[in-house]
Amino acid sequence: MTDEHDEHGIERNRINGSYDLKLEDFACALCKKILWKPVVCKNCSTPFCSACIADRSDEQSKQCVNGCEEFVESKCPRFILQQLGRLNIACANHQYGCTEIIAYEALEAHETECGYQQQSCRGCEKVLPKKDLVDHENKCDLFDLTCSECNMNFKRRDTDLLHTEFKCLKEQFRQLRNQFETNKNATSQQIQHLSSIHQQLREEYEAYKQLAEEQVKQIIIKNYEFQEKFEPNNKPTNERINQIEQSVQSCKQGSDGKIQDLIETLEKYKKADIRCYCGGHFCRTCAGCSDWKRDGNNWKRVGNGCHLSHSSSSVHVCNCDKK
Ligand SMILES: [Zn+2]
Ligand SMILES: [Zn+2]
Ligand SMILES: [Zn+2]
Ligand SMILES: [Zn+2]
Ligand SMILES: [Zn+2]
Ligand SMILES: [Zn+2]
Ligand SMILES: [Zn+2]
Ligand SMILES: [Zn+2]
Repeated sequence: MTDEHDEHGIERNRINGSYDLKLEDFACALCKKILWKPVVCKNCSTPFCSACIADRSDEQSKQCVNGCEEFVESKCPRFILQQLGRLNIACANHQYGCTEIIAYEALEAHETECGYQQQSCRGCEKVLPKKDLVDHENKCDLFDLTCSECNMNFKRRDTDLLHTEFKCLKEQFRQLRNQFETNKNATSQQIQHLSSIHQQLREEYEAYKQLAEEQVKQIIIKNYEFQEKFEPNNKPTNERINQIEQSVQSCKQGSDGKIQDLIETLEKYKKADIRCYCGGHFCRTCAGCSDWKRDGNNWKRVGNGCHLSHSSSSVHVCNCDKK
């Protein structure tokens, strides 16, 4: 609790020294004390403390105490302020021991800072001069303390009972354990989340792998279907290719790159063949690797199926001839 400066007039007994002016002329028409932060009635120039005017009820504030029809607040004339400025005044806390005599203009600043203003201890609520409060609160038995280590709150007088070194350490340990439990839960939730993402990705990968292997198998089967149709015509086609090559050769004078490209394309076409990455051929029935070799117009099995492991793949090793 801080004692607010009393915003009403100043008691005449606080005026220090004697002056060649009638103090009655500088008294508030309401509180009868020496004017403090004065304003005047615009009609009759009667001065009042601002606080005394503010204290009046709405009904009263419409009239001037002097009987004017209407009270209109106006600035205090310079003359009055100058005379008030000559006064030296005892501090409002003189009754509590302050011996300061202060010029009217400096009074408010002093009283705000005055060490004798009355304040209450935050522990025992005893009222003391502001200047003694820090020392008192540093010793007051009822003052609330907060431990910076364990954040425990307790009154100073209960330190030995409630906040021994052992209890402080025990409380810190309890808080650390709570923190650890909280972190542990958060971490295990994160792990759970990550492993569910991992599971999802693995399922997507497996589905994609199966699809890709199925597509490879379809391509191999299509290739053999094509070769099957091509095979009976292979011989006449080869003769035809030879004829084309010869005629190309014969009119090759002045030939350009296009004819050369055509010859190379024909070469590639003759050699075209799809094989397992082990080097072997695929079975024409099941598309599994069977390491076959061409034998005239037929196919002859050379090895014992694929010599690479295909055990984890749907492109399997051919077993057709073992059935
Ligand atoms: Zn007044
Ligand atoms: Zn008036
Ligand atoms: Zn003072
Ligand atoms: Zn106290
Ligand atoms: Zn503590
Ligand atoms: Zn193979
Ligand atoms: Zn093989
Ligand atoms: Zn097969």
